[in-house]
Amino acid sequence: MSNIKRVYTFGDGNAEGNAGMKNLLGGKGANLAEMNLIGIPVPPGFTITTDTCNEYYTLGKDKVVELLKPEVEKAIAYLEEIMHAKFEDVENPLLVSVRSGARASMPGMMDTILNLGLNDAVVEGMSRKTGNPRFVWDSYRRFIQMYGDVVLGMKPENKNDHDPFELIIEALKEEKGVELDTDLTVDDLKELVARFKAVVKKQTGHDFPDSAYEQLWGSIVAVFNSWMNERAELYRRMEGIPSEWGTAVNVQAMVYGNMGDTSASGVCFSRDSATGENLFMGEFLFNAQGEDVVAGTRTPLQVTKIGAERAGELAGMTPEERIANYPSLEETMPEAYQELFNLQRKLEIHYKDMQDMEFTIQEGKLWMLQTRNGKRTGAAMVKIAMDMLAEGMIDEKAALLRVDPLKLDELLHPVFDQEAVKDVTVMAKGLAASPGAATGKAVFSSDDAAEWGARGEKVVMIRVETSPEDLAGMAAAEGILTARGGMTSHAAVVARGMGKCCVSGAGTLKIDYAAKTMEADGIVIKEGDYISLNGSTGEIYLGEVATKEAELDEDFAALMKLADKYATMKVRTNADTPADAAVARSFGAVGIGLTRTEHMFFEGEKIKAMREMILAENTAGRKEALNKILPYQLADFEGIFESMDGLPVTVRLLDPPLHEFVPHDEKGQQEMATMMGLPLKTIQQRVESLSEFNPMLGHRGCRLGNTYPEITEMQTKAIIGAALNLKKKGITAIPEIMVPLIGTVEEFKMQEEVIRATAEQLFAEYNDKVEYSVGTMIEIPRATLIADQIANHAEFFSFGTNDLTQMTFGYSRDDIASFLPIYLDKNILKNDPFEVLDQEGVGQLVRLGAERGRSTNANLKVGICGEHGGEPSSVEFCHSVGMNYVSCSPFRVPIARLAAAQAAIKQA
Ligand code: PEP
Ligand code: MG
Repeated sequence: MSNIKRVYTFGDGNAEGNAGMKNLLGGKGANLAEMNLIGIPVPPGFTITTDTCNEYYTLGKDKVVELLKPEVEKAIAYLEEIMHAKFEDVENPLLVSVRSGARASMPGMMDTILNLGLNDAVVEGMSRKTGNPRFVWDSYRRFIQMYGDVVLGMKPENKNDHDPFELIIEALKEEKGVELDTDLTVDDLKELVARFKAVVKKQTGHDFPDSAYEQLWGSIVAVFNSWMNERAELYRRMEGIPSEWGTAVNVQAMVYGNMGDTSASGVCFSRDSATGENLFMGEFLFNAQGEDVVAGTRTPLQVTKIGAERAGELAGMTPEERIANYPSLEETMPEAYQELFNLQRKLEIHYKDMQDMEFTIQEGKLWMLQTRNGKRTGAAMVKIAMDMLAEGMIDEKAALLRVDPLKLDELLHPVFDQEAVKDVTVMAKGLAASPGAATGKAVFSSDDAAEWGARGEKVVMIRVETSPEDLAGMAAAEGILTARGGMTSHAAVVARGMGKCCVSGAGTLKIDYAAKTMEADGIVIKEGDYISLNGSTGEIYLGEVATKEAELDEDFAALMKLADKYATMKVRTNADTPADAAVARSFGAVGIGLTRTEHMFFEGEKIKAMREMILAENTAGRKEALNKILPYQLADFEGIFESMDGLPVTVRLLDPPLHEFVPHDEKGQQEMATMMGLPLKTIQQRVESLSEFNPMLGHRGCRLGNTYPEITEMQTKAIIGAALNLKKKGITAIPEIMVPLIGTVEEFKMQEEVIRATAEQLFAEYNDKVEYSVGTMIEIPRATLIADQIANHAEFFSFGTNDLTQMTFGYSRDDIASFLPIYLDKNILKNDPFEVLDQEGVGQLVRLGAERGRSTNANLKVGICGEHGGEPSSVEFCHSVGMNYVSCSPFRVPIARLAAAQAAIKQA
C-alpha cells in the first residue's frame, strides 16, 4: 500500500498530473495541473487523490493520516521552496487554502478553508512585513470563521443563521455604527478575532489550534468528511453521482484578493451560462476573497463594461450613475482585465468548452485559481454547442454529445403568457439568474419548501441568500428568489444546474424570516401568498400568472436536425388524442407507438355505453352496447389518424381490468340501473363480481378480447373503418393493431384471427382496402421467452416495459412508492426501475425477446412503448438491442431523438 502515490504536486509551470486524470485528482485538481502545463498563472499546490478519500472510509482517519504524512510533508516543502516561505515562519509564512474537488463539479457542496497557517505570532510578523495589518487581521478572522464552521463544526443557535460568527460580526458592526465588513478597522478586526476564539473555546472546549500542521490535517479530514455530509449525498442522488467516486483535496498556496484596492477576487464565464450568448462575463469584488463573491453577502460588480452597462440599465441608473456606483473591472483595471480576457479565451480554446473560472488579483497581479466546464441552462447548452460547431471549435458529433438530453426538457417548459404579463404588478426586480417562469406560494425556508412541496403545493422559495443547506428546498420549489447575491451566487449557480427558474439579488426586498414576510415598495407578501418569478427578466410579479408553451428557437431546430442525421432509431410518441399527437408531431415524432384506447372511454357519453357493455349479462347485451360505442371509436380513430396523416399509428386494443370503468358509488350505480332497466341490486352484484384480488394480474389485456371477442371485433371495425373513411378524403392512415398482455401463442393467434376476419369483412363492405399490420405488446416475462413462436404470427413487437418491469421485479407499479425511497436510500436500488430501465435484469428479457423474435421473423419490427422510451440511458439500451423505434410521451420526443443520436454515435 505504501508505494501508492497519493499526492500530486503542481507549480511553476510543472505538474505531476494533467486534465486527463479527473478520476484520480478530481476536476479541480486535474485542471489546476493542466493550467500549469499550458502556462496559465496558478498558485502552486498539491492534490490528494480521490482514492485516498475512499481509503479514509475503509481504513479510518489515523491510518490514512499516517499513510499520507510523508507525501504531504514533502509537498509542503515543495511549496515552501517555490514560495520562499515556510509554515509558521513569523516573517515569511506559507499560507494555504484547502478545497475539495470531486470528479464532477458539485457547486457549493464541499467546504473551503482559506488562509490556513495563521496564528497570533504569524499575524504579528506578517503585519509588520506587509505593512498592511488590516489585511492580515481580516485574513485571520476569516480563517477562524471558516475553520470553525467547516472543521470544528460550530453551529448557529438559530438555524436560519449561517454560522455563529456572522452574528458576532453583525453585533460588532452595530456597536461601531458601521455598515460594511470593509468599514471595520484593524482594532475592530482584532476584537473580532478575540470574540471568535472565545466562542470556539466555549463551544468546543478547546483553544483554536495554533499549529499549521494541526490546522492542515484538521482541514484535510474535514474535506473527506464532507463527502458524506447530508447535502453532498442529496446532491449526488439528484445528479446520479456514485459515492464511490470520492473527493480529492486541493491544497494551494494563498494569493490575496483582499490586500487593498488594487486587489480583487472574482468568478467569470467564457460565455453567458444563462443564455449561451458568446459573451465573456463575470463578477468580482474589490478587496475581497473569492468566497465573498459567491456567498452573496455583498452584491458584486461586473467584470466587463457591457455587463455593467446592462446591469445599470436594469437597475434604472443613468450612465453617469452607473460609472460612479457600478464600475466594471474593464474600466477600473484595464491591464488586469485584458490579461483575464486573454486567459479565458485561451482556456476555452484549450478545453473546447465554456469555462467557469475563479481568479484573484493580488496588488495588480492576476492569478487563476480554478477552471472547469461551466454549468449552464438547457437553452445555453444548446446555443453553445451549436455556436461552437459553427465556429469550427467542435465537430457535429461532439456538438450532439455536448447536450444533455434531459436538459432539453427545460426548453419545452412553459414561459409566461405575454398577454397575462401585461396586467401584472411588478413588485420588485432582481437579476435574471436562471430563466423560465415560476408561479407558487411564498415560503421562507428550505424545510417549509420541502414540506409544502411534498404535499403537492407549488412553492416559490424566498431567502435573503441561499447556502448549500437550502438544497432540498430548492429542489422542491418551482423557483427561487433571493434578496442578495449575483449571477454567480449559490442560488444562481445551483438553480441553473437544476434548470429551475431563479431571480437573485433583488436588493429592494426586505425579508423577515421570523414573521415569514417579504416587503418591497409597500407591498407585503406573507407565507402562502402567490407570487411569480420571471427568470428571464428578473421580474417578481404579484399573484399567480398564466403560463404558455415555450417557443423553440433555430438552434434547437438545428440540433434536432443534426440528431436525426446520426440517429438510426426512429422516435414515435404515445398519444391518445389528436391534440397530443399534434404536439408530438411538432416535436418531430414520426408516428404513434402507442394509443391507449381505454382513455377514450372516459369522456362524456362514452363511459355510459362502456358501462352498459360491461354490465351486460350476455353476449347479445354486450353487442348492443358495443354498437353504441362503435361510432365514438370510429370518430376517435379518424381524429388520431388524420393528425398523423402518412405516418404509422399503433392502436392497442382494450387493456385495463373492466372494474376500472364501472361505477363504485351508489349514485352512479343507480344511474346505470335506471338506464338499463335493471334493479340496483343486479348492478351492484355485477360490480361486485368484477372485483379482483390482483386486478393487474387478472381479467385484463388480451384476456378481455379472448373472453369477449366482440370487443376486439368492435375495435377493429373502428380502426379499419376509420382508415377506410379517411382514404376517401385522401388521408393516409397506417394502422398497426396491437394486442396487449400476450403470454401464450394461442392468446395471440385467437385475437389475430378475429382482427383479420373483421378487417376482411370491412374491405368487402367498402369494396376497398388499406394496409394494416397486427402485432403485440411484449410485457409479460413469458412472452419474451417464447418470442420466437409469437413472431411466427406477429408482424411487430412493442416492449411494454412498464408491465415487464412490474412482473420481472414483482413490484406493483402502483404501490412502489411505499418502499422505493427507502430502497434508494439504502442503495438496494440505484434508480426507480419504472423510470430508468433496469438493463441488468429486465434488459436481459428485452434483449432475449428481440433476438428470439427476429430469429423466426427477420422482418419483425421492434420498438418500446413503456415510459422508458423517453429516458436517455434506456434509449441508449434500446439502440444496443437493435430496436427500430422508441415511443414516448410528446414532451419527451426531442429528448429521445437526441438520446437516439448519441447512442448511435457512442455505439458506432
Ligand atoms: C407497458 O406496460 O409498458 C405499457 C406501455 O402499457 P401500460 O402502461 O398501458 O400498461
Ligand atoms: Mg402494459
